[in-house]
Amino acid sequence: MIAIKCATSITGTVARSFMSVTSNTAAYRWYSCDTSKKFDIVVIGGGIVGAASARELSLRHPSLNIALVEKEDHFAYHQSGNNSGVIHAGIYYKPGSLKAKLCVQGMELAYKYCDEKNIKYLKCGKLIVATERHEIPVLLDLYDRGIQNGVKDLQLLEGNEIRQIEPLCKGLQAIWSPNTGVVSWAEVTESYVDDFKKCGGTTNLNFEVKRFSESENAEYPVVISDNQSNNISAKYVLTCCGLHSDTVAVLTGCPEEPKIIPFRGEYLYLVPSKSNLAKANIYPVPDPRFPFLGVHITPRIDGRVILGPNAILAYCKEGYKYSDVNMKDLKDILAFSGFRKLAMKYATFGVKELTRSIFPSLQVKQVQKYIQEITSADVERGPAGVRAQAMAKDGSLIEDFVFDSQPGSGAIGSRVLHCRNAPSPGATSSLAIAKMIADKMESEFKFKN
Ligand SMILES: Cc1cc2nc3c(=O)[nH]c(=O)nc-3n(C[C@H](O)[C@H](O)[C@H](O)COP(=O)(O)OP(=O)(O)OC[C@H]3O[C@@H](n4cnc5c(N)ncnc54)[C@H](O)[C@@H]3O)c2cc1C
Repeated sequence: MIAIKCATSITGTVARSFMSVTSNTAAYRWYSCDTSKKFDIVVIGGGIVGAASARELSLRHPSLNIALVEKEDHFAYHQSGNNSGVIHAGIYYKPGSLKAKLCVQGMELAYKYCDEKNIKYLKCGKLIVATERHEIPVLLDLYDRGIQNGVKDLQLLEGNEIRQIEPLCKGLQAIWSPNTGVVSWAEVTESYVDDFKKCGGTTNLNFEVKRFSESENAEYPVVISDNQSNNISAKYVLTCCGLHSDTVAVLTGCPEEPKIIPFRGEYLYLVPSKSNLAKANIYPVPDPRFPFLGVHITPRIDGRVILGPNAILAYCKEGYKYSDVNMKDLKDILAFSGFRKLAMKYATFGVKELTRSIFPSLQVKQVQKYIQEITSADVERGPAGVRAQAMAKDGSLIEDFVFDSQPGSGAIGSRVLHCRNAPSPGATSSLAIAKMIADKMESEFKFKN
């Protein structure tokens, strides 16, 4: 464990600050810290999007007093620290969409950033494999999309060419994306936070925003409060709250929609002795009816290989296990008409996913389509992540990124920008998203340097 003298934190009162970092868990703990509780900008949410945005704003505006607040005891606690770790190339997304644009830009920025910061990544490439005839038109369509999106070096492969890249992988045709990679997005998030602190940014963990109110101080009109009656004031606010983006937006007078429905994605590990069965990412041709990419094989940066994720309704916003149940969250999900419509439409798919979750051997069957050699004896249960799936009242899934400054009420609403939807490939796109958010804040709030 190392102790580092560092920038200031918000809630303490004494002029001394230390942070302790355990090298493998990267758990940050703040002790007594100097505080000025008034900030030009407060960024709420210490996932990769909040951290990247706080970093970008502090690099552009070094004289502004900026804070990053997070409710957990370390950064990247939720989606940003529990994902597949893939650096996506930008193949899947609708041409012209924010996802298509920001993923392609974000991938380039991510590799450049990792090189500069010496963050380990693996450019292991990715195969999207059609194993059945009816998947070929979808595969060809995806290839066209990738080309339209400006993804570099894409190739279409025939069956025998697939095996030259992955000797055990079987398929009729495949897309090969050599620039797709893997990285630890949690490590990248921590590095963004480090940059932010080096620019003079203030961080505060264990601060769960529960309330916004209007201050009498016209210069810092937004008061942000946690559940312990700690308050901070801000001129402008950015929220990047992932699974809670709807709840936090409502606190500033914004509409509840897009509503966030939590979907757990469970992974299986290949046992270490079988990690050599796949070197590249191997993905199915996605079912165009769903926003999820399907169960894939991914070599992680730590040397383990994961299979997954599936998509199961979580019984609370942060429901990583079946036993994580929050009756309030669950009632809220079931009361939402959009969710009920979706559940009716995809009832059969939902039951199949649930069955596969209970019986991992069925999940193994999905990947045996590509690599027959993987058997149930080769897998063990692995980690899980929870996706923040944005949904409209009519039950449609909102696929693209949504950055919304649609005013909430009063002085508060007009000073807050909400990142309401940043699903996959949000981690890959994080540096590009941060630039777009900073541009938007500059143009809408016109804050001075
Ligand atoms: C299973 C899974 C696999 C994925 N795979 C990939 C992949 O391979 N590649 C890729 O590019 N993307 C992937 N993604 C998507 C990627 O992880 C997300 O797009 C990205 O992490 C979103 O970052 P975020 O900062 O918006 O959200 P989060 O990481 O969820 O961060 C939001 C933060 O806000 C905090 N917060 C919430 N409410 C409050 C409050 N009231 N007060 C204070 N703090 C609050 C939370 O504690 C949290 O830390 C995957 C996601 C999942 C779930």
